Amino acid sequence: RQAEELAAAFEPATTTDGVCVEVVANIGGLEEAQHSVKLGGEGVGLLRSEFLYLERTEAPSEAEQDKIYSDIAKSLGKDRTFVVRTLDVGGDKPLPYLPMPAEENPFLGVRGVRLCLAEPELLHTQIRAILRSAEHAKLAIMFPMITSLEEVREVKRIVAEEKAVLGVTAAVQIGIMVEVPATAVMAEIFAREVDFFSIGTNDLTQYTLAMDRGHPKLAKDADAMHPGVLRLIANTVKGAHTHGKWVGVCGGIASDPSAVPLLIGMGVDELSVSVPAIPAVKALVRTLSKADCQKLAAEVLQMGTVAEVRTRLSQQLAD
Ligand code: PEP
Ligand code: MG
Repeated sequence: RQAEELAAAFEPATTTDGVCVEVVANIGGLEEAQHSVKLGGEGVGLLRSEFLYLERTEAPSEAEQDKIYSDIAKSLGKDRTFVVRTLDVGGDKPLPYLPMPAEENPFLGVRGVRLCLAEPELLHTQIRAILRSAEHAKLAIMFPMITSLEEVREVKRIVAEEKAVLGVTAAVQIGIMVEVPATAVMAEIFAREVDFFSIGTNDLTQYTLAMDRGHPKLAKDADAMHPGVLRLIANTVKGAHTHGKWVGVCGGIASDPSAVPLLIGMGVDELSVSVPAIPAVKALVRTLSKADCQKLAAEVLQMGTVAEVRTRLSQQLAD
């Protein structure tokens, strides 16, 4: 019985009507990568590379970064996707070796890709180190907090430049996190110029609802099931698919069993979940029919309140 369950863990997550949903992991280091593989994870949808940079007195060297990205890529192997997110810090997570002026609103300040473009040396070093892991897994590079097409063009230029310098010829997908409402609204435009989207619903929710995701009073209401956020997710998927690009969700809702049928119904292709959630999310996908999920999504997208959405989703899960 246990052996059967274990074997099933490595089967793909296919709906009852034959649609494959990729279930991958959000990780913060090598141990989680190894653990995700043991639990049947189909790759990494989000490596939060911040762990390499925080709580130290100087930036990690290129060699140090090389080793860790390559070790993680090797633990996944050539058949699994490895999505590395470039450094995503800012005023709220300062780095001692990078003087950043204090900001009144760090969440609206120089964070994510904005900081990396302001510190090109830091970004170029990271990109080179990431690219060197391309031979060990299906590598993708993802940029956080993208707000404008100019940012996309600039990071693509930098990746192309470093690929040429290193002589890396492997295909490396370039994607962006959709976390800023403007980007979700303009998804169709962005989709022309990137290989994929990964929706960061934690930040997308905070910026759409104008509620700090860590606020002691408001955080509980910063719910991604708000109809305004759901419409942005649906629009993002539509924009991506118009240009044949894939879309993942790597925010916390991808690991929420009540949200999974809705995300699949909206057309999300990949769920990047916390490592312990992998087996349950895969098992859940196998019980769902995509056609039913699409009906559910059509219904939910007409709703006006979080409460209505949540009630409907709990009912669906109970069925
Ligand atoms: C998100 O914003 O949803 C996300 C996955 O990124 P992080 O939680 O690391 O900000
Ligand atoms: Mg985020």
